[in-house]
Amino acid sequence: MACSNGHIDNAKMVFSFLFTKWKHESENLGCIQLRLLIILFNRNELFRWLILYLSEKKEARFFLLYAQNDSVFGNLKKCNCMKYIGAHVSAAGGVENAPANAHAIGAKAFALFTKNQRQWVAKPLTQESIDEFKSNCKKYGYDPKHILPHDSYLINLGHPEKEGLEKSQDAFLDEMQRCEQLGLSLLNFHPGSHLNKISEKVCLSTIAGSINLALEKTHGVTAVIENTAGQGTNLGFTFEQLAEIIDQVEDKSRVGVCIDTCHAFTAGYDLVTEEGYNETFRKFEEVVGLNYLKGIHLNDSKKELGSHVDRHDSIGKGFIGIDAFRRLMQDARFDDIPIILETPDDSIWAQEIAMLYGYAKA
Ligand SMILES: [Zn+2]
Ligand SMILES: [Zn+2]
Repeated sequence: MACSNGHIDNAKMVFSFLFTKWKHESENLGCIQLRLLIILFNRNELFRWLILYLSEKKEARFFLLYAQNDSVFGNLKKCNCMKYIGAHVSAAGGVENAPANAHAIGAKAFALFTKNQRQWVAKPLTQESIDEFKSNCKKYGYDPKHILPHDSYLINLGHPEKEGLEKSQDAFLDEMQRCEQLGLSLLNFHPGSHLNKISEKVCLSTIAGSINLALEKTHGVTAVIENTAGQGTNLGFTFEQLAEIIDQVEDKSRVGVCIDTCHAFTAGYDLVTEEGYNETFRKFEEVVGLNYLKGIHLNDSKKELGSHVDRHDSIGKGFIGIDAFRRLMQDARFDDIPIILETPDDSIWAQEIAMLYGYAKA
């Protein structure tokens, strides 16, 4: 139902008044009155305003928790924009639990580990778990292209020694096959580290060779290389290094890139100013190509530009700051791909997601 700006302004005034009242009276009563207001007025516009109003007050949490169980709010939360925002959610108790965990925080996309990320070997997925995962994705409306599984932290596809390399390649193949079984189309991983034993060039070729091996033995899953902060001997911290790996991958249709904003920033890509933001993604387009972009990890940074240290912070609280994230939400280049929070405080994920949807164009 469309209505005039005058009505919207009135609704905002009434809401501001109600919000003040909630602090002294019943929160539920406030939510019920607000629900009626949203039904009466232009839903999207009021909702966007409301989320920003509350997130600026840093008191949105109770409202969002209430909203999760409310059909009117629930529909508003999952806005109709082309942004697919979520978080790396828990798969404790089985991968089949991840979709409900994502739904509970208002996510339209999610990431997960399909096995314990700190162990080399895991039990195979059971058919029961696979079937339940697929039916839960359907139930909550998650398309495979908006699900970005992450592989184990132990894997080093550029390992300088035969034994370590083979162990990593076997584990990576297992991760790819798990994705295949779950009907997923992407697998996100950190490229690898030279451990000061081989040159960067040899390490990048080794990584590409490992990707080729896994792609040969699987179908339908794209290997998604994540840019790194360049901490220690990790490679993949420049767009040129990512391009060098991609160049040596035989099946270009099944290799992609995930940009982690915290990693890019501490690797030296300035996202803070509008100029820096534009230059970073212009460079990405020039060196790698936006056609390879399959996902985003959306994290603020506890460390400074170019520090090469990987410490994520909550959105708007670190050195990157809120403007970069607001810009990204309004940037059509990031439509229709999973945008995943890996921010440290999971108790505010619902709030962060709602705030980001508030910034996205409806
Ligand atoms: Zn990662
Ligand atoms: Zn990441």
